Amino acid sequence: MSISDREERHAKRLAFNFTSLILLVALALAFAGLCGAADVPGSKGAPYSNMPSIAPIGERIGKYIDVPTSAQGPAIDAAKGYRLQDLGSGLYMITDNAYQSMFLVYDKGVVVVDAPPSYAAKIPKAIADISDKPITHIVYSHAHVDHIGGAKLLGGNPAIVAHQETQRLLKRAADPNRPIPTVTFADKYTLQVGGQRLELSYHGNAHQPGNIFIAAPRQRVLMVVDVIFPNWMPWRRFALAQDVPGYFAQVEEIRKLDWDTLVAGHVARTGTHADVELQARFMQDLKQAAGAALASTKFGEGLNPLDRSNPWAGFDNYIDRVAGQCVRTLTPEWSNKLAGFDVYIWDQCLSMEQSLRID
Ligand SMILES: [Zn+2]
Repeated sequence: MSISDREERHAKRLAFNFTSLILLVALALAFAGLCGAADVPGSKGAPYSNMPSIAPIGERIGKYIDVPTSAQGPAIDAAKGYRLQDLGSGLYMITDNAYQSMFLVYDKGVVVVDAPPSYAAKIPKAIADISDKPITHIVYSHAHVDHIGGAKLLGGNPAIVAHQETQRLLKRAADPNRPIPTVTFADKYTLQVGGQRLELSYHGNAHQPGNIFIAAPRQRVLMVVDVIFPNWMPWRRFALAQDVPGYFAQVEEIRKLDWDTLVAGHVARTGTHADVELQARFMQDLKQAAGAALASTKFGEGLNPLDRSNPWAGFDNYIDRVAGQCVRTLTPEWSNKLAGFDVYIWDQCLSMEQSLRID
């Protein structure tokens, strides 16, 4: 056999293999098409049609959207495990860049506001960097363990100031790490210590009954925990707000109050009025998107007729489609504006549609 014969056969074999490959691909596509036509949305392996690009709750993804630089804060001191921020005139924020609390130094002692268990053991050390005075008071912003569960670690026998609802919830919780408040109030309380002052006030239920506003007028600082998330998507379901309309109202109150620095209890940096404006704008867009989706989505559409006697299934089918439309509406405008948009937008849309339907 000549070299040219061998080359010719080799070329024919390649051509044959290539034709087989095309045929196989065509067959595979036709088979997939047949399967696709037989699949009902929601059946195994068949996602809903028009699924938003943001993965729904329960779907694991490879990589979340990057946190925009505008949402990042100064780095914490790696050796210490926290960062102190001087808020002026003896008031300091302490943070691990996930939680935030404060302490206020006065002539005879120190007032601590919140003690997140993630770094509470380090709070006395952080205070010692600034002052040798003892902790005489603790103020609880609210009863949740992730913000005050380190109170016991502060030691001593400080007076504990909180709203009366917080006291009630802590008596019920009977948690030795969250000592019961010793001083409570209903509407307003002024904590005057030497030349320093904190004005505590209650604005009703939003995040949790008893969650208060803590104003330091001299420093022009306002601390409200778990309501505003500076440049971030609120934590899931409006940060677990127990009263969604109350939560919307409280964001408005914070927006209108006169302060320069907001200590919001979470994320890596303090908040500004621009952060509150941004969150308020997002919440209005969310309310509008969820409202429009509720109005335009037909109940029962695409539901398997075999599920018609299952009302839970009917609502699940309806609410999923409402939330899907809400997510699709908000994604183009907000996905790169708020850090963590993709993490919790489904939660927010579900929470919003539910509040609009039943509150
Ligand atoms: Zn909370």
